[in-house]
Amino acid sequence: MKMEKNIINKAFLILFAVPSVAVAQEHKLPVLNYQYIDLEPFIDATTMEIHYSKHHQAYVNNLNKALENTEAANLNIEDLMLNVSKYGPAVRNNGGGHYNHSLYWSILSPKPQNEPSGNLSEMIIANFGSVEELKKQMNQAGASRFGSGWAWLVLTKDMKLVVSSTPNQDNPLMDVADVRGIPLIGIDVWEHAYYLKYQNKRPDYLDAIWNLIDWKKVEENFENAQNSHLFEKM
Ligand code: MN
Repeated sequence: MKMEKNIINKAFLILFAVPSVAVAQEHKLPVLNYQYIDLEPFIDATTMEIHYSKHHQAYVNNLNKALENTEAANLNIEDLMLNVSKYGPAVRNNGGGHYNHSLYWSILSPKPQNEPSGNLSEMIIANFGSVEELKKQMNQAGASRFGSGWAWLVLTKDMKLVVSSTPNQDNPLMDVADVRGIPLIGIDVWEHAYYLKYQNKRPDYLDAIWNLIDWKKVEENFENAQNSHLFEKM
């Protein structure tokens, strides 16, 4: 009986005495499914290398630093975004930077599926009339964003597809966003995403990037978003 109690005490210690921040996972750069050079001629290798290994890495490092020894260190990136107004500007900027770039890399491919198909295709036609019209609205959202930011294709909680744009590293998951929902496509319109090749011609970069957007991945994002538990938290 005495021994049993010891075991229970030990179990109690293991369960509750470990500080919660000790189990926190550091945020990490996602692995790219292609080489820097593979997105040429639409995005040049130097831009890719600096963008991924310097800019994105800095967002990851600064996010981890901002979360160090805080309760929020236990949250995954989506949960951080959903309530970002609680966690201050360093988490908003660097957490947004990490989430946004992870999505951006994942929807680009040197061998993309060129057009949406299936359910997504039907919904795009229902919401925008055509894929061309959707691209036009995305490009307009990206071109007219003053300064730095992102253009988005978003699935909203009422299951509509909407085009939006956010400043800086904000995104549609955030509780501070004008249009909330789950982003299916995110296009980076910061100058660091295109300036070496396109200089001041942001619309040319926006036209070119559709050659890399992999609709197979966007369809996956759409299927996952439709059943996502994240909507319950919006
Ligand atoms: Mn960027």
